[in-house]
Amino acid sequence: MTSPNMPDPKTDVLANRDRIVEDLRDIVPGEGVVDATNQMRAFETDGLTAYRQLPLVVVLPETVAQVSRVLKYCQKYGIRVVPRGSGTSLSGGALPLEDAVLLVMSRFNKVLEIDYDNRVAVVQPGVTNLGVSNAVAERGFYYAPDPSSQIACSIGGNVAENAGGVHCLKYGLTTNNVLGLQMVTIDGEVIRLGGRHLDSEGYDILGLMTGSEGLLAVVTEITVRILQKPETARAMLVGFPSNEAAGQCVADIIGAGIIPGGIEMMDRLAIKAAEDFVQAGYPLDVEALLIVELDGPEAEVDHLIGKVEAIAGNNGATMSRVSTSEEERQTFWAGRKAAFPAVGRISPDYYCMDGTIPRKRLPEVLAGMRELSEKHELAVANVFHAGDGNLHPLILYDANNPGELERAEEFGNDILRLCVEVGGVLTGEHGVGVEKRDLMPAMFNKDDLDQQIRIKCAFDEQHLLNPGKVFPELRRCAEMGRMHISRGQLPFPDIPRF
Ligand SMILES: Cc1cc2nc3c(=O)[nH]c(=O)nc-3n(C[C@H](O)[C@H](O)[C@H](O)COP(=O)(O)OP(=O)(O)OC[C@H]3O[C@@H](n4cnc5c(N)ncnc54)[C@H](O)[C@@H]3O)c2cc1C
Repeated sequence: MTSPNMPDPKTDVLANRDRIVEDLRDIVPGEGVVDATNQMRAFETDGLTAYRQLPLVVVLPETVAQVSRVLKYCQKYGIRVVPRGSGTSLSGGALPLEDAVLLVMSRFNKVLEIDYDNRVAVVQPGVTNLGVSNAVAERGFYYAPDPSSQIACSIGGNVAENAGGVHCLKYGLTTNNVLGLQMVTIDGEVIRLGGRHLDSEGYDILGLMTGSEGLLAVVTEITVRILQKPETARAMLVGFPSNEAAGQCVADIIGAGIIPGGIEMMDRLAIKAAEDFVQAGYPLDVEALLIVELDGPEAEVDHLIGKVEAIAGNNGATMSRVSTSEEERQTFWAGRKAAFPAVGRISPDYYCMDGTIPRKRLPEVLAGMRELSEKHELAVANVFHAGDGNLHPLILYDANNPGELERAEEFGNDILRLCVEVGGVLTGEHGVGVEKRDLMPAMFNKDDLDQQIRIKCAFDEQHLLNPGKVFPELRRCAEMGRMHISRGQLPFPDIPRF
């Protein structure tokens, strides 16, 4: 499949490509503009590899001034822009458009300042998530949100997707760990939000930017909170005879007032795939496995491990093992962190979903998923951020079998509809992108969507930043009551509907 239904390319932009490339080379000289087809291939897709599209041109700026000039230029000539970090988005957020500049932020790769007194690091958006932790590790600090893709994904992409990870239950998502931003709007204006302090002045635009999926502005600098590593961290493996029992155990742990550093769940298929891949010591005779990490002072951790073991026993756990060294703790996590590639070894293709549900509805949703698996005749492996109720069903399919990709997508859509039906939401951490765009009406009515589009219009009236993502249709800003129409002339008549 090449591309989902996207806005029609602007013919005038396509016709003027040579001129546009030349102008962009003036702004970003050297190797910062890539227009050869074979070189652009590296950028034609992101983590949602079912879709691919060559961009108009790839631009890799190195300075904020260059970002500002590129955006100003694009706004002047009505050229669309797709921001990109490392391209690991699983919702197609960084999927290029044929008539759009792909603005790749990977050369913004410096840690600008580490301020231990204020417990913050100031970094450029192209630094990898793990790079932030590595930069502060020698003083015993780290950056808490830890997506499984942390070795590759950029911190700018994390902000745009409000990324999460196994430790976000206790320490919060990206939005809870970003204190300040510098960003450039489509008209080239450089804006600072927040700083090194808690709470922002005025409206919480910092909160609005986090999770804005590249639709509002381009992030050029980020101030993140860094935390001191806990004195002790130990992980437990706890096995159950059913997913329902494991789900109930999670609810009981949280209900008892214990907030583990992380609490993850895997079903039989995912356990086996991960164990075969990394030999993490997972039991193969259980239906569901919890990995529960307790962290803090040693005495507290010991106490909480005892409490969790008791709760697990009450829920029928058939095995429990506590890590006895840092190496063993890392090994327990290695299986979970490698779960996606591990599933990739047992199926030619898989489709990773991301939805969130109220924790207590987990057994019902798992039962529903089993029925859907039969209906669509495709297997599903389950990996969850169980503490957050964030599901990651991995639908197994083979794209070489005609119709299987479409069936996998329909299966995925049914799972997300189920999440919404039980009071959950369409995404937990991977964003809406193109993947869930057309499902937005399952969650929001027209008024809700209009309100969100009004915010988009306040930043980007011409819908130049990442169009075709998040919103199922581009309503003209004029339709949002945002613009005045003079002498019957619609402003921006070229904004397409799709
Ligand atoms: C194997 C695997 C495991 C994953 N596990 C997790 C996980 O545990 N948790 C999780 O949250 N995600 C996970 N992801 C998804 C992905 O890694 C995250 O969404 C990540 O935040 C994307 O970062 P990126 O730099 O790759 O962004 P990209 O994919 O390049 O872009 C993502 C979005 O951000 C926008 N964007 C990027 N940079 C900027 C910028 N500087 N300014 C404005 N907008 C920008 C883009 O336009 C796009 O909409 C996983 C992905 C893979 C492939």
